[in-house]
Amino acid sequence: MNETRKRILTGDRPTGKLHLGHYVGSMKNRVALQDSYECYFIIADLHTLTTKAEKEHLAELDDNIYNVVLDYLSVGIDPEKSVIFLQSAIPEEYELAQLLGNLVTLPRLTRLPSIKDMARAANMDDETVPFGLIGYPVLQAADILLPRAHLVPVGKDNEAHVEITREIARRFNHMYDVEIFPLPDVLIGEVPTLIGTDGQAKMSKSLGNAILLSDDPKTVEEKVRGMYTDPNRIRADVPGKVEGNPVFIYHDAFNPNVEEVNDLKERYRLGKVGDVEVKRKLARAINAFLDPIRERRAAYLSRPGLVEEVLVEGTRRMQREAEVTLGMVYDAMGMAGPRLRRVLQGKSSTFRLQAEA
Ligand code: ATP
Ligand code: MG
Repeated sequence: MNETRKRILTGDRPTGKLHLGHYVGSMKNRVALQDSYECYFIIADLHTLTTKAEKEHLAELDDNIYNVVLDYLSVGIDPEKSVIFLQSAIPEEYELAQLLGNLVTLPRLTRLPSIKDMARAANMDDETVPFGLIGYPVLQAADILLPRAHLVPVGKDNEAHVEITREIARRFNHMYDVEIFPLPDVLIGEVPTLIGTDGQAKMSKSLGNAILLSDDPKTVEEKVRGMYTDPNRIRADVPGKVEGNPVFIYHDAFNPNVEEVNDLKERYRLGKVGDVEVKRKLARAINAFLDPIRERRAAYLSRPGLVEEVLVEGTRRMQREAEVTLGMVYDAMGMAGPRLRRVLQGKSSTFRLQAEA
């Protein structure tokens, strides 16, 4: 591996199977950049605890983690090139988050619209929102800074979190007079936030408006047939609105046949095409897009144990990197903990505090 390459960190919460929104928001960039960057992809199970800490949710974690790794492999993330790791298996995640929490103010976190949105979606208010959810961006900063990443490909809803990470990184470097952390740049996907099939602003598993990367062709056809279009267009001969119309947003995102898309748009505006044709062609385009993903998925599924192996190996690689970063961090801060830890781990026999030295 070429160690001079810059690094990427991004990932997903294992809350279910991934969908087209995840793909256009972040995964497409990951696949495209995995040769030019050293990539770290995090399965952020600790982040699911911020809104789903109950036992019944935790019981689903294993399945969800498996499916997210499988989704990664299916879209073409190559485990030979990229590191796929499990957040909760890296103790340094917890350690770094604890340290970084001191470098950001509470109001900076509570003002974030993204956290307010998540709280609202989980039926939490100011009185019931847990400390963990307020601290979400701090844990995410730890995710990003642990591999000392330069670039973070995410959907639009995550942009503000990367900005907080930059602030924390800048503050750490300045406070301890080091240059340990690069200030990470955000890379928003070609579709910053993909609209849901029901016309809601964001495609999301929890809203039930998602087309999954693992949906079979029939399911895709059914979901597309049920898609929200221009609500004012009651008949095929009524001129329709293309802008902001989910079916055309999806056509632009997933139908590579630009001529066909332009023809549909033109006729739609004139009231010369029915929704049925627009949707039939959309379902065909999405299915063509998903076909190679399905093939790769089937290939991985035919080799039992492989998904787990990929995760174990990736987590091992991240573990090594995490130790290096935390070593640098504690050194910069001048804390004795790591020295003592080496003694406790049997890796060193001496332990001295500064005053003794
Ligand atoms: P869901 O609401 O479906 O659970 P999520 O937002 O919780 O999705 P995360 O695991 O938090 O998913 O985010 C994974 C990545 O996918 C983030 O970079 C996020 O910005 C991106 N993403 C999720 N949904 C969309 C979408 N509809 N459009 C664009 N990007 C998205
Ligand atoms: Mg999620």
